[in-house]
This record gives sequence, structure tokens and C-alpha cells, in this order.
Amino acid sequence: MKAGTATLYVVATPIGNLSDVTLRALEVLRAVDVIAAEDTRMTARLLDRHGIAGKMVAVHEHNERASAERITGMLAEGKSVALVSDAGTPAISDPGACVVAAVRAAGYPVVPVPGPSAVVAALSASGFENSRFLFCGFLPARGAERRGMLTDLVAQPAMLVFYEAPHRVVECVADLCAILGGEREIVIARELTKIHETIHRCRLAEAVAWLEADDNHRRGEFVLVVAGAAQVHASDEVDYDGTLKILLEELPLKQAVALAVKLTGGSRNVLYQRALALKGDA
Ligand code: SAM
Repeated sequence: MKAGTATLYVVATPIGNLSDVTLRALEVLRAVDVIAAEDTRMTARLLDRHGIAGKMVAVHEHNERASAERITGMLAEGKSVALVSDAGTPAISDPGACVVAAVRAAGYPVVPVPGPSAVVAALSASGFENSRFLFCGFLPARGAERRGMLTDLVAQPAMLVFYEAPHRVVECVADLCAILGGEREIVIARELTKIHETIHRCRLAEAVAWLEADDNHRRGEFVLVVAGAAQVHASDEVDYDGTLKILLEELPLKQAVALAVKLTGGSRNVLYQRALALKGDA
């Protein structure tokens, strides 16, 4: 193949297993003038394996904007550039997004070369049948911010997908359980496509214990897939609303919700969301 001049190719690379690279990705990596890599050591392993030499530059050594300017400069010289990240599809929760935005803004063609991505790999093996998912990337590192974001997601019917680092996975899963409720199911997908690949599905109430049962369960790279919120039928909402309206006239929101849970047997999270909506209506 001949690479287009002044074109940025966004090339997906393996997330672990070096055989997970597409034929087209290899063709593009061979054909371009420059391979712009997030970490040249990581990408060198892939290029060596497939006998592709030279033409690699590190572009994320300073900051995202500097990288973007550097690549735009190469395109201005008429070069073809392949953008690769450490693993998976560039621009999905990694600095590639800034580069692609800058290149598009500068008016150069951007060509995707699709392939592995940890989010899709985890979803494909999760066994959840929901056809919708919401990819949330990394949750905030600070607990209060993280819990705030999760609270916004409580009523979301789509599956929730998160990336997480090993040193934060226990606290993150504990917050998922506290905010979304212990009954929901989670798939903990770690080290996908690698030797120690583990895909564990359980209720959120059991997830922290599973992580703590074995040091190895907390090692490596993680994708967390959480089942979406159970759908509430319209008729249920009407019942909840009637009960909540009466209670909210007499009690603060939290107490009203707690009592409504006891009276209706409904989910605390669903009732909480309905109570917030009713307060907004008032
Ligand atoms: N762009 C990448 C993609 O398409 O998946 C993701 C980049 S992001 C900086 C890195 C995160 O992806 C890791 O912290 C982890 O959450 C997830 N990840 C990457 N490789 C993985 C793997 N082999 N198994 C599980 N999660 C992985």
C-alpha cells in the first residue's frame, strides 16, 4: 500500500497479545513516513515482532499540546504519520484524542485503522445482554468526586464501563457497590489477552471480597463493566410518586426516601432519583 501524503492514520495496536494486530495496521505502519508513538519502547516490541524498522518518534514526552503541534508540523511537510498509543485504540482514554482534535482542526485528513480496544474486549466477554453501554473511561481519583459522578449514573439503564488502575481498583469497586447497590452485577476484566487474563463476574456486594481474596486479583490492568440500572415500569413510578409526594410534604428528602423504600419495597436508588425529580417539580 501507499500511504496518503499529509495524512494522519490512527492505528489500533494490541492491548497485550502481540498477535492481535490487523493486517491493515501492519501495512499502514510499514507504509507511513513516521510512526508517532506514545512510548517508543512499548511500540518497538510490536514493530520488532513484525520486522518493521526505523521511523519512530516519541510524541508524548512533553505534553499533549506539544505532541499535537509536532505532528501537525510533520503533516505540513507532506509526511504521512501513523499515531499509535501504548495499547489499543488511540484517543480512547489516552493522549491521542488531543492530537486527533488538533490535526482535524488544522484540516488534514484523519484515517482510522480500527483494531483492539480494552473497552470492547471486556464488553464482548462480559455476558451482559444489554445492547447499550456507557463508556466512562477513568473515574476521578478523589473519592468525593468519584462518588459524585457515580451518583449521577445511578439511574442509567445502559451498562457502565470503566477503566481503572490496580492501586485504585479496590476503592473504586467499593464505591460502585456503595452508590449503585450491592445487587448489581459487575464483570472485572483484568489483563485481557495476556497470560494472566481473568474475567470474573459477581454481584457488586461480593466484588471487594473477591479482589482482596488474592493479591493477583488486584494486579495488572482493569476494565470494570457494571450492569445498567433495572428498568422501572411507568406504573411503578406512579405508585412511588404517590407515596413519595405524601412523605416529602412532611419529611426531609433522605428520610422520605428511606421510609418510601420500606413502604414500597422499591430500590433506594430509583426512589432517590424519583424524589429528586419531584423536588425539582415542586
Ligand atoms: N486506548 C486504550 C484502549 O483502546 O483500550 C486505553 C488506554 S488507557 C490509557 C489504559 C487503560 O486501558 C488501562 O489502565 C486499563 O484500564 C485499560 N486496559 C488497557 N489494556 C488492558 C488489558 N489488556 N486488560 C484490561 N484493561 C486494559
